[in-house]
Amino acid sequence: MQTIDSSKPVCVTGASGYIASWIVKLLLERGFTVHATVRDSDKASSVAHLRKAAQGASGKLVLFDADLIKPGSFKAAIEGCELVIHTASPFVIRGFTDPYAALVRPAVEGTENVLDSCNAVQSVKRVVLTSSVASIYGDAIEILKVPGGIFTEQLWNNTSSEGHQPYSYSKVMAERKAWDICQEQSRWDLVTINPSLVMGPSLTTQTQSTSIDVMRDLGSGRQRTGVPMLEFGIVDVREVANAHILAGLNPKAEGRFILSAHTASLLQMAIVLRASYPEYPLPARQLPKFLVKLVAPIAAGVSREFVQKNVGYALRFDNSRSKDVLGVQYRPLTETLCDHFQQMIDDGLLKRR
Ligand code: NAP
Repeated sequence: MQTIDSSKPVCVTGASGYIASWIVKLLLERGFTVHATVRDSDKASSVAHLRKAAQGASGKLVLFDADLIKPGSFKAAIEGCELVIHTASPFVIRGFTDPYAALVRPAVEGTENVLDSCNAVQSVKRVVLTSSVASIYGDAIEILKVPGGIFTEQLWNNTSSEGHQPYSYSKVMAERKAWDICQEQSRWDLVTINPSLVMGPSLTTQTQSTSIDVMRDLGSGRQRTGVPMLEFGIVDVREVANAHILAGLNPKAEGRFILSAHTASLLQMAIVLRASYPEYPLPARQLPKFLVKLVAPIAAGVSREFVQKNVGYALRFDNSRSKDVLGVQYRPLTETLCDHFQQMIDDGLLKRR
């Protein structure tokens, strides 16, 4: 059980990212000094939204350069911190040829590097790691066999690999590595946040996060002809950010926390959005699975195995620990989706039909 001194700085890794920049913003608004790591603090697009978040906030932003695959590069940012929130890790599911280099190496080696520095810096008492429900299950079909038909924190993804669901593999291997390293010492404890698909407004247009791709694909007309019956757990980025801070500061927080507010298919998301944005080319129908399987490798760059094991399954997530232990309150799905869509329109990322 750790008590964190809130006068000490908090380190947030990958601070420029979609989720992390919200964590930084909330910490700054609550008066914390934030040691924010980015890959290149001279790159204006990586840090402009962080500097904006710092303006008028009572906390203080201090930027550090750090790269996941460079050993020791997080140490300076971690110095003096009792709480380290490790969020940096690539969230991409297409556009790469080498899954090890694109995903697994930065996720696993990066976690090892950050935690090695936590071991080296005596001030660290707690690490909050951004894991994922991808560390809990690999393919949606697994819902048919899990106890009670619901994904819980007791479960681990044992089915993903570099060749099949490499992003999920990167997340489960990184989380396992973190628990292994944590168990070898007793000064700091580990809490993991395991969100489902995170949606909601982004503070930056620069992120590579797949969350943004999902919304762009829905609203850009790319899926005008229809969408597969792919269901997601969905959670608002503001709740996810808040949960990291609650997990960091609550002495009773321990173990893993699923963060997931709702489940919805792509079509259900489009229906919610169309009610407020009828002038955008949102998908209006669901494609049959056999057709999706036929065209998926070329049209979407995903394998037939992925379609077979993920299209057509309804998901359920147990979010009770997040509510009971952390006190997370989830907002309605409509608010999450519409705030996200509106932000993308305001930032010029979506056009009317
Ligand atoms: P994001 O905006 O792409 O953020 C990823 C961050 O990782 C970026 O800040 C990126 O830095 C950093 N990063 C990537 N490779 C790096 C490297 N080699 N060295 C240092 N930093 C590196 O994506 P996100 O959605 O916010 O994801 C953040 C975390 O949440 C990830 O761990 C992801 O797995 C997890 N997560 C996301 C979701 C979701 O739906 N979005 C759901 C569950 C879990 P640059 O800005 O320099 O590229």
